Amino acid sequence: VAKGDHPACGTGEQDARLGDLRRNLVLVEQAPQTPSPWGIMVDGDDPLTGEKVAASINIWDHVTDLATQGLVDLVRYMNGELQTSDITNGDYIREWGKATDLAGKGQTMSKAQVNDRVASTARVDAKAFQAVAAQKMPEELRLAVAETEKLVADAAVSSTVASQKSLEAKARMELARGTHVETELMNQPMLELAGVDGNVPISGAVADHVSPLALNNPKIASDFRKLHDNALAARGACILHEAPEASALTGIAEALRRKFPIDPAESAQAKLDRYERMQSYLKRRFTYAVIAHEMGHSIGLRHNFVSSYASLFFRPQYWQLRTKNGSVTQECDDAVDDGAGCVGPRYYDPITTEEQDQLQWMFMQSTVMDYPGDVSQDLIGLGVYDFAAARFFYGDNVSVYSDPRLAAGTSLGGGLLSTTDTFGGLFGIQYGEGSGTGGNAFIENFHYAQLQNKLNVIKGCYGVTPTQPSWWRPEVDGNWDQVLDGKIVSIDGTPTKCRQEPVDYVGYTELRKPTDAELYNGYFRGGPAVDIKTNRLRVPYAFATDGWADTGNVSVFRHDAGADPYEQTMFLITSQENRHIFDNYRRGRTSFTVRGSAGRSFGRYNEKPARHRRWPRLLRQHLPELRHGPGLHVRQHLALHREQLREGEHDRRDRRVRSLHPRDQPPAVRSPLRPLVAVERPHAALGR
Ligand SMILES: [Zn+2]
Repeated sequence: VAKGDHPACGTGEQDARLGDLRRNLVLVEQAPQTPSPWGIMVDGDDPLTGEKVAASINIWDHVTDLATQGLVDLVRYMNGELQTSDITNGDYIREWGKATDLAGKGQTMSKAQVNDRVASTARVDAKAFQAVAAQKMPEELRLAVAETEKLVADAAVSSTVASQKSLEAKARMELARGTHVETELMNQPMLELAGVDGNVPISGAVADHVSPLALNNPKIASDFRKLHDNALAARGACILHEAPEASALTGIAEALRRKFPIDPAESAQAKLDRYERMQSYLKRRFTYAVIAHEMGHSIGLRHNFVSSYASLFFRPQYWQLRTKNGSVTQECDDAVDDGAGCVGPRYYDPITTEEQDQLQWMFMQSTVMDYPGDVSQDLIGLGVYDFAAARFFYGDNVSVYSDPRLAAGTSLGGGLLSTTDTFGGLFGIQYGEGSGTGGNAFIENFHYAQLQNKLNVIKGCYGVTPTQPSWWRPEVDGNWDQVLDGKIVSIDGTPTKCRQEPVDYVGYTELRKPTDAELYNGYFRGGPAVDIKTNRLRVPYAFATDGWADTGNVSVFRHDAGADPYEQTMFLITSQENRHIFDNYRRGRTSFTVRGSAGRSFGRYNEKPARHRRWPRLLRQHLPELRHGPGLHVRQHLALHREQLREGEHDRRDRRVRSLHPRDQPPAVRSPLRPLVAVERPHAALGR
């Protein structure tokens, strides 16, 4: 502190430096600014120590207005208070109501349909595949598959590593510039998209701007966005662009109707007041969500885009709804009409009305550091990961499972270790359990829907009486709602809460790495994870930040929802359907642009499923390399079923295999612990 400084700067013993403001701000910018993001976090960090000296959280209020107004519009539309003509001034809406009714529900697929799709991906005849799939997998093949899975377990795509393939694509597009192919592509809609009118000659820089082979390519825009996001993340800053989608819509519409009931005799003014109150309620909740996210950055958290995928860490309410407080243990083995009697992947086990009405999507969340896809996830607050990460950063201490069933050395412990410190690469997080012993041990994966059956993620459920808190202000926040405000779900009509898996806390330095036996030969590249004294396991909270997002790593998408690829895809389809009329009709909005609308459609709904292609492609491209090792046994197994497989297809495969492995060469002796040199290559190519 220098002489003459304000007394608030402290006494002479303190050493203040230039720029050391020590003032934390949350700013809500009232005046609309366009363009503007929703929120920005730009803290002041001490350049010498990295210490945070000033948190700076900034929210543009008009974006919250737009987001909440959009949600209120959707809800009014769903509740029949808004006519189609009010939105579109036209009649182009087909089956919109039906699509909305199905919000998040998706459609089921029978086991046979699932098998058909797998067979077609593997390019084998569906009947032959059914026959092969129905047989018990020989032990040797099972081990080989487990080993292959382990080898590709963390093959991931990072957007911070240059891609040779994209250079190739760019070079190919360059070759087509100036040809008739480009002229054909530069049609009227493309010109409009680029905002070019008839007064401008289309050549030079303008042509670059208009050509889908140059800058007018949504992929280019998306690549720029990624560069931008990665650069921000590297500086510890965050720009939150826009509000999330609404997919738990039918549930939210119902909850808002309960909170702000419609009086049949209400005047026009009363109606307007009701909308206003609905909107301002949502605004407060959204603003809280943005502050929680930005403040998370301030305390040192980075983005964590696996929130909606890491089902082990979903709220207990999710598992309450999914398994009726743990009482539904029957596994769905094929598509059923009513999902209440069994639990399984969503393509077999449709969402029930109980789940839909009680906002199941809201509870599929584990951290505020994600960009939620589903709007309801901005209404729920801090998740288990947030608490654990802060405790780890500031207390050097980590959560361990108290239950001895989950300790190192147990089969469940083996499964948990294989998910420790990994987001599962391209294939996403795989839950499993250890099986067998010694060299024959392996991790057997199961679908996440079986987590309650296997791990008892909820237990000790008890009835509660939902009560409005004393400080609740109904005139401001509407009627207190059991689900939306109290976060209490009812199972078969009875409000209940359940306990989660209990954890204890130990210092990070009190942990050791797991032994080979504890790993069941499963994947592990994590850090210290076992409590030295008690063998208890560190809780494997999942984490993946910007560089891994939206590149194809199944667990790591921004603005998504869903705990497996099927659910994610259904979410994107439903969101696009729900939002279609609001996204794509101008409705007198001054902020509407064709470019914005097209960009949203591409970035939000279409680009993500396109990235899902990457894991099957990884397998297809690199299986020949894998065949050098365990894959040989896959080939032998296929050969056993030669007559069952489509003849031509099999011959083609066999020829390819033969060129790699001449017939006179004896198959290599498989050792489960031997690392495969060949597999290091895909890792390198993918930026690992
Ligand atoms: Zn952020």
